[in-house]
Amino acid sequence: MKTPKSQTFLSIVIPVYQSEAGLEELIERLKQALFAISTEVELILVDDGSKDGSWDIISKVAEKEDFIRGLRFSRNFGQHQAIFAGLELAQGEWVVVMDADMQDLPEEIPMMLTKAQLGYDAVLARRMDKKATWFSQVLTIVYYQVFYFMSGIKQDPSIGNFGVYNKRMIHQVLQMKEYNWYFPTMVHWVGFNQSTLNVKHGVSTNPRSNYFIKSKFNLGLNTLLAFSDKPLRLTIKSGLIVALIGFLFALVTLIRYFSGAIVVPGYASIIVSLWILFGLLLTTIGIVGLYVGKTFEGVKNRPRYIVDQKT
Ligand code: UDP
Ligand code: MG
Repeated sequence: MKTPKSQTFLSIVIPVYQSEAGLEELIERLKQALFAISTEVELILVDDGSKDGSWDIISKVAEKEDFIRGLRFSRNFGQHQAIFAGLELAQGEWVVVMDADMQDLPEEIPMMLTKAQLGYDAVLARRMDKKATWFSQVLTIVYYQVFYFMSGIKQDPSIGNFGVYNKRMIHQVLQMKEYNWYFPTMVHWVGFNQSTLNVKHGVSTNPRSNYFIKSKFNLGLNTLLAFSDKPLRLTIKSGLIVALIGFLFALVTLIRYFSGAIVVPGYASIIVSLWILFGLLLTTIGIVGLYVGKTFEGVKNRPRYIVDQKT
């Protein structure tokens, strides 16, 4: 059976987690901004197992408005799994991915779409005046630097998920079946003709970010392990460097021994080299273990998410 050709022009995909505070206003402002462009619009709200009233709002508006579809996960699977589920449903020629907490402004979408239509496959929003505390800004900079060093993947910290993507881009991104699925890095990996547009950054309607440092750290580590084997190569490098130092040290010791310079054999040198080598060994085993763990996760081939309810 042939599926009918899609008529949808624009799909908006929003992962929603504990975002009841601003959700209604967001939907209202999206309607204002989008219907000025086209009537062939769909809005896909994926509730990532929120414990607040987010799903009540979603199911209510989805009942009232034809163009809104809601999906609820059976538990909290994570923002990027929610984005994946939304993208799988999206029918549009163009797809927008954005946050639910009004940090990504609906009013910026028409500009991004206009730019995309000039001949780009994706136009990514670059948030110019990022509204965050200095502490979280410093943390972000450090995070991206460490990530770059460990993975060799350069990411722009002012670019997130917010952007306009065309159908073939989304199709390719969905082809990537790996378990650790992280949208911005996937987009980066896919390539095609991408551009950016500077946008304003809104104030979050959530009192605090849904990410605590721990989960951002875990997200970063998972992405790193999924995308790069550079840490493995780094351990080989550092192993070689330490081995070289050890070799030189041994050479010097031998020369000194034969020339009679060593009277009392050093306890310090033995202990120091022991600690260095064991430290290195443990680190290396740890890193190898991490990759083995990731392979195990991938081989299990579990579903990325489980749907509880649909509208
Ligand atoms: N989010 C999600 N699942 C989660 C955490 C967050 O779907 O487990 C969604 C959230 O609803 C929002 C986006 O991801 O749309 C970004 O979350 P948040 O604003 O808390 O993070 P930050 O702005 O600090 O990146
Ligand atoms: Mg936010």
